[in-house]
Order: sequence, then structure tokens, then C-alpha cells
Amino acid sequence: VAKSEGRSRWRYFTPAMQVAAEKRSQIIADLRLAVMKQQFFLLYQPIVELETGKVHKAEALIRWQHPDKGMISPADFIPLAEETQLIIEVGNWIFQQAIQQVAIWQAAHGKDFQVSINKSPVQFYHAVAGDWSASLQQMGLAGHSIVVEITEGLLLDANATVSGQLLHLRDAGIQVAIDDFGTGYSSLSYLKKFDIDYLKIDQSFVRNLSEDSSDRVLCEAIITMAHRLGMKVIAEGVETRQQCDLLKQAGCDYGQGYLFARPLTAEAFDEFMARKISP
Ligand code: C2E
Ligand code: MG
Ligand code: MG
Ligand code: MG
Repeated sequence: VAKSEGRSRWRYFTPAMQVAAEKRSQIIADLRLAVMKQQFFLLYQPIVELETGKVHKAEALIRWQHPDKGMISPADFIPLAEETQLIIEVGNWIFQQAIQQVAIWQAAHGKDFQVSINKSPVQFYHAVAGDWSASLQQMGLAGHSIVVEITEGLLLDANATVSGQLLHLRDAGIQVAIDDFGTGYSSLSYLKKFDIDYLKIDQSFVRNLSEDSSDRVLCEAIITMAHRLGMKVIAEGVETRQQCDLLKQAGCDYGQGYLFARPLTAEAFDEFMARKISP
């Protein structure tokens, strides 16, 4: 073992690495084409108000329909899109799709309907946020039609550009959610500095939630803290009735997960809403 470890120290670029590198540049080339050929689409996952069962929020989740590789998950291509900055173009496309859809759902389900979109840190570092509020105005949509999901890491080392863009969102009335809350950094001081509307409890705290679990204590603490700071809480990855009941008992505002629905096409989302409303 020691010998092979020793060898790998000088065998710097292996054939396997060569193959991986070629695969990677192929995917990046494909990604550039995908942007031009519009191979992306959005799925929407319902976010359920736990007290009432009402659905007036959905999270937009991107998918890539690759011509030969089939459906590619965002976990596999978002990092590459970030690295190549293609995410800026893709991100603007996501926003445009989301506002078209939210306009339709506000007409059907009321003006308080919101669509949340995930915004990558790269978009905050480079893009000009200005035209987002102009687009909302052109569509006759209120700013709070859109919630932008960001991660803790963005706020922890927020420079002037990032802070400026967050203020810009805020001025446009767009709401902000912290995604995967509790997994990023141990610092909570950013919660004082920035005006945040929602905390999304990461699914890793929900997965093993039970009557006497430490995760239950953590969820309760997050919910109490959030409420006292004027934020609402969305639990991610709710898969079982028991998790849902415990979260409800703890005062959690919203739940999102397979218990309610998987991410759905817009058409399937409409069917989901129709089934919900009918007795
Ligand atoms: P996220 O924003 O935290 O999204 C939640 C992920 O959990 C989604 O995975 C969703 O399908 C999955 N999920 C929902 N309910 C359950 C459940 O009950 N159990 C389990 N095990 N999983 C559940 P997805 O769609 O594969 O997205 C993965 C990540 O990729 C997202 O995590 C987000 O960080 C990123 N992503 C997705 N769409 C976009 C996008 O449009 N733009 C950007 N920048 N990132 C995106
Ligand atoms: Mg998200
Ligand atoms: Mg999440
Ligand atoms: Mg607020």
C-alpha cells in the first residue's frame, strides 16, 4: 500500500485523470450549447403552509434535458455553470421563466402566490441586478412575487458588491431566504446585518427527526430564533407524516418535501392544486 501511495505522488497526471478532464470539457461545451438551444426547464415544488395546508409558494428547480445523456441534475451541472460564469445567463433565464409562471399562478391562486428561485453566489459577484426589478414592473408584478434563495456562505464574506445587490433586491421588494440553513457556517452574526425573510432548515436536520432526537431540539431552537428575529421558517425534505407533525408542533411555518409533492412540471403543479382544492 505504502509503495503505491508513494508512486501516486509522482504520477501526477494519470490516464484516468485525462479522461475525466476530457469529459469535463465536453460537458462544458455541451453546457454552452444548452444555453443557446434552451435545453433547460424548471420544475416547481409546492411549499405548504403547515397550519392550514394552503399552498401559495413554490420553489423553482432547474433541470437539463441533455440530447443524449438524458436528464442531468443541477448538482452535476450548476458547479460547472458557476465556474464558467454561464450561470449568469442561465440565472437570468430562470428569473424570466419564474416571473412568467408566477404571473399565471397569481391570476389563478391570488396575489400572494410566490415563486422562489435559487441564486448562485457567482450571480451576486458579477451580474447587474438592475433589470430584474424593471422586468417585474413591466409584468405588473409586486416585488414579493419572487423569493431569492441564497446560502449562508454568501453573507459570511459579503463584500460591497454583494451587499449592494442584496439591498437592490430589498428595494425592489424581492424577498430573501437562507437555503440549507445550519449547514454552512457557525456564525449567526449575518442575521443581524441583513434583512432576511425566511430560513430554510436543511433536510439533514429533518431526515432523522423523531420525538427524542437532538435534531428535534435543533429544529425547535432554529424556529424560536427565527420567529423572534421576525423571520418565517420553511423545513426542507419533509418525507413522513411524523416529521411533519413534529415540525408543526415546534411551530414551523412551512414544509417542503416528498410527503406533499416532488418537484413538478407546471402542468402537474396545476393538477396538484386542483386536487387540493376539490373536496
Ligand atoms: P436546494 O435549493 O436545497 O433544493 C432542494 C433539493 O431537495 C432539490 O433537489 C429537491 O428536489 C430536493 N428535495 C425536495 N424534497 C425532498 C425530499 O422530501 N427528500 C429529499 N431527499 N430531497 C428532496 P434538486 O432539484 O436536485 O436540486 C439540488 C440543488 O441544486 C438545489 O438545492 C440547489 O442548490 C441547486 N439548484 C436547483 N435548481 C437551481 C437553480 O435554478 N439555480 C441554481 N443556482 N441552483 C439550483
Ligand atoms: Mg433552494
Ligand atoms: Mg436546500
Ligand atoms: Mg424581513
